[in-house]
Amino acid sequence: MDYSEALLVPNPMTPNTAIVFNEDKCVGCNRCVNVCRADVLHPNPVKGKPPIVLYPDECWFDGCCVLACRIPGASELNSPLQQKVAWKRKETGEFFRVGMKDPPPPNNRPPVGEKPLPHGF
Ligand code: SF4
Ligand code: SF4
Repeated sequence: MDYSEALLVPNPMTPNTAIVFNEDKCVGCNRCVNVCRADVLHPNPVKGKPPIVLYPDECWFDGCCVLACRIPGASELNSPLQQKVAWKRKETGEFFRVGMKDPPPPNNRPPVGEKPLPHGF
């Protein structure tokens, strides 16, 4: 690699892509870059091209960048694999929580070592 040509390169430490840009739709306005508080995204040195996902391993997956974009489909949040896992019923194929007829009661026990709050709080 000729390092004199390398202005910004994606962080190769993680296989996670975090944000995926659609080159056909993104106009490189950098609104998404400006709203990212974790500085994951950086402007592309080539004008009009999608931003560079420079630090994907620092992404919070809050989706602010995708929400800030005014062009539908220009960017997409690529949630980490462990957040995509869902339980599925073997018999019916339905997702465990979706459409569950008899959900378990809420867990109202206070955390260990903490006193319950007085009534009304
Ligand atoms: S993804 Fe959207 S907000 Fe970000 S640079 Fe492209 S067009 Fe602009
Ligand atoms: S999801 Fe949040 S932290 Fe990740 S790139 Fe978008 S705005 Fe930045």
